[in-house]
Amino acid sequence: MNIKTKLSQYVTNPLEWSSSRKAAVLLWMYIFDQLLYLLFFWAAQNFEVLDPWFNQEQLSFHSVFFIWLTGLTIVLLIAAETAPKRHQQNVLYEHVGCLYFGLTHVYYGYCIGLQSIPVGVVLVGAPVVGFILLNRWSVAVAFVSSLLLLFAISAATSAGVIPYAPLAQNLMGADGRLATVWVISYWSLAMPHILFIFALAYHVLQRWRLREQEVTHLSRTDGLTGLVNRRHIMDLLELEKAHCETAHLPLSIVMIDLDHFKRINDDWGHDVGDRALVSAAEALRGAVRQNDHVGRYGGEEFLVVLPGLDSDQAELLAERVRAAISAVELKLPNGKSLSLSASLGMSCIAAQEAASVDHLIKQADLALYQAKDSGRDRLVIAA
Ligand code: GH3
Ligand code: MG
Ligand code: MG
Repeated sequence: MNIKTKLSQYVTNPLEWSSSRKAAVLLWMYIFDQLLYLLFFWAAQNFEVLDPWFNQEQLSFHSVFFIWLTGLTIVLLIAAETAPKRHQQNVLYEHVGCLYFGLTHVYYGYCIGLQSIPVGVVLVGAPVVGFILLNRWSVAVAFVSSLLLLFAISAATSAGVIPYAPLAQNLMGADGRLATVWVISYWSLAMPHILFIFALAYHVLQRWRLREQEVTHLSRTDGLTGLVNRRHIMDLLELEKAHCETAHLPLSIVMIDLDHFKRINDDWGHDVGDRALVSAAEALRGAVRQNDHVGRYGGEEFLVVLPGLDSDQAELLAERVRAAISAVELKLPNGKSLSLSASLGMSCIAAQEAASVDHLIKQADLALYQAKDSGRDRLVIAA
């Protein structure tokens, strides 16, 4: 199995992840962040050239907390990854994950300066991604708590109670320029967040679109035959009627009902009945033109919409449909085969004629009844 397949199996659809899974993903990302922070602060402690811009005393004081926090994230991550199945949906995982992520980020932000790019990126990006992916209460509580803490620290900094950006020194040069070391540092610390927010938002929205398409498709399709269902064929009929009206084109419809279908079910069982419906649907699809519409109107009833065809043209096509259904040969369990037949009722709106869809359907229905009454396996055209 290659890495891509493995990764896509792990990632799957974020919208369907369990609570512990979501917390785990958040913590995985956080571990990656924290390792980066540790690397950053290690470099600041070990490269002498950086000394003028980093407060070494504060660095050694805070690095203890950084290491402990990274350890704590690992512990939380293990807890989320090994969550017992019955607890995986417990939203507590997300509450803890979000709150921990938010509050500790305020601390990291304080160390490098709250008025910096990385803090801004996390402050805006985290709730946006959070609301898409995670429990909204977890995100809201974590966001509000972190924001309050941010305000408090900002006020305390402004009042001179605590220092601004304790890890930094000479943030601003005497000439008022922001130190290049810190410009680079800020962007390096912000970049992983920007990339993660971008990638995750892209992935989730992509999945969202796919799911939307699936739902729309399912809501329009008949599960057995794959034809459009009654609701959608009626929508299509309305659309085609409006189009034909404005384009001054005729419109015809054919209502089709399989003959003695109940007998097929009674004699051969529902399975064979279902197969007969599928075969009839295939025959219908094969008999119409590309821009015609075929839908399953009811149990063994189908509706064909023929835009642009007047009565004479539609009659030819309807006869072709009838012949296609008669040509179906259904293999039976006993080795013999069974043929189908259908009765058809057709109604038309001539070009520039005004009529409602309801009227059109009623007319086709009446014609269908006449076809049944006069012996079945035939087409009747409404007067
Ligand atoms: P007619 O020639 O007058 O149309 O007779 P008919 O037996 O076809 O008509 P009727 O309305 O009495 O019976 C239709 C049958 O279609 C009844 C129902 O059980 C069956 N049917 C409806 N939907 C399905 C389905 O999805 N699968 C199967 N196997 N049968 C279905
Ligand atoms: Mg029927
Ligand atoms: Mg029937």
